[in-house]
Amino acid sequence: MRIENDVKLDFEDVLIRPKRSTLTSRKKVELERSFRFLHSGRSWTGIPIAAANMDTTGTFEMARALSRHKMITALHKHYSVADLEAFFSDFGKPDYVAYSLGIRDEDFEKLGAILDAGLGDHFNFIVLDVPNAYLERFILNVKQLRKLCPKHTIIAGNCVTNEITEEILLRGADIVKEGIGSGSACTTRTMTGVGYPQLSTVIECSDAAHGISNPATGVGLVMSDGGAVYPCDAAKAFFCVSDFLMSGQFFAGFEQSGGELIEKDGLMYKQYYGMSSTAAMKKHYGSVAKHRASEGREVVLPYKGDVDDFVDELLGSLRSTATYIGALKLKEFSKRTTFLRVNHQLNTSLENYT
Ligand code: 5GP
Repeated sequence: MRIENDVKLDFEDVLIRPKRSTLTSRKKVELERSFRFLHSGRSWTGIPIAAANMDTTGTFEMARALSRHKMITALHKHYSVADLEAFFSDFGKPDYVAYSLGIRDEDFEKLGAILDAGLGDHFNFIVLDVPNAYLERFILNVKQLRKLCPKHTIIAGNCVTNEITEEILLRGADIVKEGIGSGSACTTRTMTGVGYPQLSTVIECSDAAHGISNPATGVGLVMSDGGAVYPCDAAKAFFCVSDFLMSGQFFAGFEQSGGELIEKDGLMYKQYYGMSSTAAMKKHYGSVAKHRASEGREVVLPYKGDVDDFVDELLGSLRSTATYIGALKLKEFSKRTTFLRVNHQLNTSLENYT
């Protein structure tokens, strides 16, 4: 048995130190980034924020809304080939949508059918997603997927440590999705005790990923996935050099989100649940398999209306952070970073008053 004694940090354990700034208006802050991907060789420009491939957030409606802001939606994997065909027939923004799959044989068969139907050109990203990327089988599946889709930009995960991040990139992924146990609808830490604080995960794994490069294309990239609670957590993720940010909670509860709309005592709510929750397993597989424990939570959130208003708020918060640190571009965030380790992030004394 070994204990690592150095402290690992979450978003809530730090604040950002302000820096001298010459910015005159937050409107001038550039939030788009451009990347060229390690294996696919594709170039991409957009705001590097993605809605998670959960059936409550990775919906067609979300993709239509977020693509207008050049943000990505990772579609959940439960859409049928016919659903996808209908959606892609009039959705012409392949740079802002990802197709998702798991590592079961059926997942790869369905992807084969999608490619055979000629739909492969309608999405530039593919998310290969498992809760635990430490399985040898997963690493082999990354290799298999790269062979099947040489020109797609592959996002693969989830893991939380540098050595497996490097391995996933070397086997063919362009972007590694980082985060285990950090998700708001996730109960993995409660059920298994496994996890890694999100800020430290991203700091350590992005350093490893950026060390893998191809001079003809680009470097390995990471996507922080899960654990962003407040708008400021997006800034913190980019500060600790996450190239992309994926979130479920940010995009849950809106008109464009999935999940049932529920009325209770005259107020409207929308369901949000983890993809390994009992609710999701019952919906998609009929029941929870006996050998599995549910590792997801189900909640109802106050209905929040159109996601567009939230996007404005989120992007506004990033621009505002930029003015406090004198960054003209999102790309400069990490270069102007000093984090303060704190034991109290927010003043919540008025939280219970409306
Ligand atoms: P959030 O942004 O809500 O904090 O986290 C979203 C992320 O949580 C997803 O992108 C996914 O990686 C993870 N996640 C979603 N559903 C589940 C689940 O049922 N169990 C676990 N362990 N993680 C989940």
